[in-house]
Amino acid sequence: MDLGLKGKAALIGGSSKGIGRAVAIGLAREGCNVGICARDNTALAETALTIRRETDAEAFSLVCNMAHYEDIKRVVQETANAFGRLDIVVNNAGGPRTGTFDEMDETDWLNAISQNLMSAIRTTREALPHLRRSGGGRVINITSIAVKQPIDRLILSNTARLGVIGMAKTLSRELAPEGITVNNVCPGNIATERLISLIEERAQQEGLKMEEAIEIEERRVPMGHLGDPESVANLVVFLASAKAHYITGTTIQVDGGSTTAVF
Ligand code: NAD
Repeated sequence: MDLGLKGKAALIGGSSKGIGRAVAIGLAREGCNVGICARDNTALAETALTIRRETDAEAFSLVCNMAHYEDIKRVVQETANAFGRLDIVVNNAGGPRTGTFDEMDETDWLNAISQNLMSAIRTTREALPHLRRSGGGRVINITSIAVKQPIDRLILSNTARLGVIGMAKTLSRELAPEGITVNNVCPGNIATERLISLIEERAQQEGLKMEEAIEIEERRVPMGHLGDPESVANLVVFLASAKAHYITGTTIQVDGGSTTAVF
């Protein structure tokens, strides 16, 4: 199936590792040039190299913090300049601190809102003039299954990500007449550094060995195993494609059946 992504340009937030990295590689395999971002250059350079080696697409590395507006303005502009266009933005960054309401102070809340809500709003706003020129732009937000079922001890994630869903739904209707789509992808238990550190934290709290803690996580998933980042990337690549032109305003989980909520 030709996804119509050849020669397009995408900016992917938080993409030196994990889900963002898999998305960048997935888009590049379809011939889409990618701007990839992270706060430091070490893993980013390796990801760029992998993309150049394994695909025919170009990878442009951008050191930036998605929690900082000035950085976002710069990376949107630099990606559009590098490729002469910007068709797709994938809003993604690291997850916020874990813990309960009592454990969070003002700074924790503001950091989570900057990194996991304002980053999506700001990147979309900066990218919109370019997406409009593209004639069928795509906005895809990486959130979490926490938007369908809040997860204990993840109060910052449970809160900030619902703001993204509200923004995306409203914006999807505003942009639909222009052919620009806005969708949300919700990972479940995906085996990345982020998930492994969450499992380590739980193992320590509950006095479990790491293998036991992983097994408990796997048993929570009806498919019986953790997902891989490519499973999430496959959906993102499809939503970014020309084939998904009539799909907008959706919030879709990739979770091996974990979510029990109906919608
Ligand atoms: P990860 O920690 O493995 O990778 C995050 C990537 O983003 C890395 O490349 C990191 O360098 C970069 N990054 C982090 N903060 C950044 C910032 N402020 N600015 C720029 N780059 C930044 O995470 P992941 O597992 O790939 O998760 C991606 C997103 O999906 C996170 O928001 C996470 O909370 C969410 N999520 C993940 C899972 C899962 O099971 N892995 C489940 C639900 C939600």
